[in-house]
Amino acid sequence: MTPSARPGRPEPWWLEPGGEPCETCLMVHLDELLSHCEGCDAAVCTTCLIEVRERSLRLCPACAEAFG
Ligand SMILES: [Zn+2]
Ligand SMILES: [Zn+2]
Repeated sequence: MTPSARPGRPEPWWLEPGGEPCETCLMVHLDELLSHCEGCDAAVCTTCLIEVRERSLRLCPACAEAFG
């Protein structure tokens, strides 16, 4: 791999290392906006993440449904 430093040609932010797609809405977010589901470890953005207060868990919508 060649170094990706290319002055004058900024990479789109969504291609920056550290960006990861949310597995629920498929939008790419920066790391700071992504969490991981505590049920299946899927990358889930903070918008999609569901907090299950009774269990103190933060889950993706699929897991939240499975947990009832
Ligand atoms: Zn999302
Ligand atoms: Zn999950």
